Amino acid sequence: MSSHAPSPSAETEGEGSPAALFAPPGQHIFLSPHADDVAFSCAGLLATPTAAGAARRQLVTVFLSGPDADRRRAEDQTVAKLLGCDYRCLELPDAPDRPEVHNGLDHFMPYGPPHLGIANEIVHRLLPRLTPPLTLYAPLAVGGHIDHRIVHEAARALAYHIGPALRLMFYEDLPYALCPYSLARRLSALGDGSPRATERGRPGDEQSAYRRWLLSMPLIGDRLPGLRTLVAHRVAQVALRADQQPARARPGFTPRLTSHVYPLSPPAGLEEQVIAAYASQCPLFATSTQDLTRQLASYGQKVGEQHGKVASRYQRLWQEHGAYGPTPHRS
Ligand SMILES: [Zn+2]
Repeated sequence: MSSHAPSPSAETEGEGSPAALFAPPGQHIFLSPHADDVAFSCAGLLATPTAAGAARRQLVTVFLSGPDADRRRAEDQTVAKLLGCDYRCLELPDAPDRPEVHNGLDHFMPYGPPHLGIANEIVHRLLPRLTPPLTLYAPLAVGGHIDHRIVHEAARALAYHIGPALRLMFYEDLPYALCPYSLARRLSALGDGSPRATERGRPGDEQSAYRRWLLSMPLIGDRLPGLRTLVAHRVAQVALRADQQPARARPGFTPRLTSHVYPLSPPAGLEEQVIAAYASQCPLFATSTQDLTRQLASYGQKVGEQHGKVASRYQRLWQEHGAYGPTPHRS
């Protein structure tokens, strides 16, 4: 069901090549809210061989804390090596270790004043290390997780500070984007007018889709069936509420997105190796590494089908043009 007419000016899914994407000089920095987000969302792209294979690519994980931090950092370092990236971790406190987050449901809340401090901390730590020209890849923040929203907004702030010499690209967060309607809901909240933003359902249908998606994953745990359903119902409720924050209600300039798709041709087995490296996370999202690899690959096929290419896998990125302000800021 469609609730938004596509904007006639919206540029939709222009095709580019991974080689052209990585050709511009300077750093290519992939911001990952948590260890695993970039790998789950962009491994196929990073693993696709290109003539610009020597481009300086860096994986930066933002939030890492808690008793598993050492293990998760080591997993991340292994994956960065597999994907040909330098690695850096900002070691900022994960949602459960921050004061504004009181329980699991608070992982899904609209971005706002309680998060300006931590978003500013990300900007403060990264800004001195960014040398323009550069391309920054950040989460579109599909799925409503507050840590993803914070990194998304910090990336916008970095673009504003540096100006157009920072090319800002958003990737679709996996596995969240596997949940039906979630991409369209996020794009609608950002005020996007492309056909992808129109793939909405009735509110009740969107909420049950989110609940069913949560219940399909082992992360809900081995609670009694009634309790599993209740937890999934509450999480779906708060996640959808966080996703409904309209673009005008968030701090910052109005987003202006255009989408680009890139064909993927990673070496056989590499993505499965990458996903297997996150052994601490694999049991959360799927029953096996193979199953998760299959699900993530199926998303790339869906993007291909949306682009009219059956049986090909694609990565979609959203380039942000609005973060520089009404008049592009020049440093
Ligand atoms: Zn994450």
